Order: sequence, then structure tokens, then C-alpha cells
Amino acid sequence: MDRRIGAHVSISGGVEKAVNRQEDAGGNCGQIFAGSPRTWKVSSYEEEEGEKFHELRGEGDQNPYVIHSTYLVNLATPKDDLFRKSLKCLQEELEAAGKLGVEYVVFHPGSHTGSGRENGIERIAEGLDELDIPENVTLLLENTAGKGTTLGKSMGELRQMMEATDTDNEKIGVCIDTCHAHAAGYELREQEGFEDFIQEIKEDLGLENLKVLHLNDSKDEKGSEKDNHEHIGEGNIGLDGFRNVVNSEALKKKPMVLETPVEDDKGYRENIEELRGLIE
Ligand SMILES: [Zn+2]
Ligand SMILES: [Zn+2]
Repeated sequence: MDRRIGAHVSISGGVEKAVNRQEDAGGNCGQIFAGSPRTWKVSSYEEEEGEKFHELRGEGDQNPYVIHSTYLVNLATPKDDLFRKSLKCLQEELEAAGKLGVEYVVFHPGSHTGSGRENGIERIAEGLDELDIPENVTLLLENTAGKGTTLGKSMGELRQMMEATDTDNEKIGVCIDTCHAHAAGYELREQEGFEDFIQEIKEDLGLENLKVLHLNDSKDEKGSEKDNHEHIGEGNIGLDGFRNVVNSEALKKKPMVLETPVEDDKGYRENIEELRGLIE
């Protein structure tokens, strides 16, 4: 079967450089930032750059790709200025995806910071309504570890966001991050608990709404609500957990993108190999 496993790669030196980095990692799908993830700055791309990127990806058989939004975006905020800034940034990222031929843009839904869960979800829906999502681009809400007033911890809550917006649900979907799911209390290691998780995805979210997976192990305990990514197999999800994920009938056709640590000598290549080795 055509497996799609890749990594979040840097665009430093030009977006087309991402394709080489992906090849070095042994990935056949991937993710990039459209600008600098800790600032509001989104790069604007020329038609030519997009065509080049798309062509190189085609030659390297790398698809799909995802643009990960900046960490500053918060559509759930009650503060108008932050809400406006977030919308502007997301819109620019969506446009970058359109120009670059990138299939998905993923963002963290945000924190209500005290306004309450229902108001936060309403706000996210209001934001989604205002965005103009380019043709051939799908906007994804990512599940979160759920700390504090963060929204999007459960499958049902992500579905609520989709239902609250007037945006055509064909244009939006969900990305599930294994580290965040584990931190939110979902069981990935034990077979039985894992099956319950899959069942919840099917019943509360809808499998068709799940478009992309982020595969990261976790440095923390299940239910910790902490978001610290670890190398595949070295964390608390462990190889048993990832064996469940890559062999799941429900998940195996979904593109899987790694966001594992890169600061030490072990990189994406080893993590992707590890995952491919688990496929039965
Ligand atoms: Zn993620
Ligand atoms: Zn994370």
C-alpha cells in the first residue's frame, strides 16, 4: 500500500530546499512553516516559486504537504485585536498554500482565556466564517494537549467547531497529533484503549474529517496535558503505541507527518525508518 510518512522540514534558503531535506529524511509527504512560527510574519510567494516547489515535489513523489500555522494564532480569544491579527495571519498562510500548491493548512484552535468553552468555540466558528479558503486547500483544526483554557482536546469538541461554522465542511477538517492525544488522556499503547480511541474518532469526529496525523512520541505521562514531543519509541507512547497507529485500518491511509526533535544527533531519518519498520 502506498504509505505516506514524512517530516516537518525547514524552508530556510528557499521553499524548494524543503524537498531536498524531505528526501534526506526519507519522507514522501511533509510539512513546512510559511514564515517564522513565533512571529506574525508570513512570507509571500511568487507564482514561480510555487510552480518550482510543486514540480520538485512531483519528481520526488512527495505529497501531500501541510503548512503549519504560527503558534501565535488564537481564534478562540475574546480579545478583538488578537482575533483580527490571527485571522490576517491565517488568511496569509492560506494564500501561501494556494500559491505553493500545498494541500493543507493546520492550526491550533486556541484558548478562550476565561470567556468560557462555548464562547471560545463560537469565536472559532466566527473566525472560520471570515476566512477565504483557496480552491484545493483544506484548513485543518489540530487536536491539543488541553492545558488550561485550550480548546480542541477531544474529538467531540473539534467536531463542535466544525458544526458551529457556516464554512462548507468540505473545506475544513482535523489533524490529530499523537503526542497531544496522549497528553489529553487518550490511550494509544494498550490495544483495547487504542480501539476505544479509534471508535471515538469515528463516532464523535467522523473518520472522513480526519485528514492528517502528526506522529510524535511524548516525554510526559498520559493525561499530563503537556506538549513535549519525543523521538518515536523513546517516549511514553512507545513502539507499542506507534505499532497500533501505523497498522490501524482506520489510520493507515492518512498522511503521517513527524514533528520529532531535531536538536540532537538523532533526526527524522531514524524516526521515519523506525515507523516504517513497525508496519506489518
Ligand atoms: Zn502537531
Ligand atoms: Zn505539539
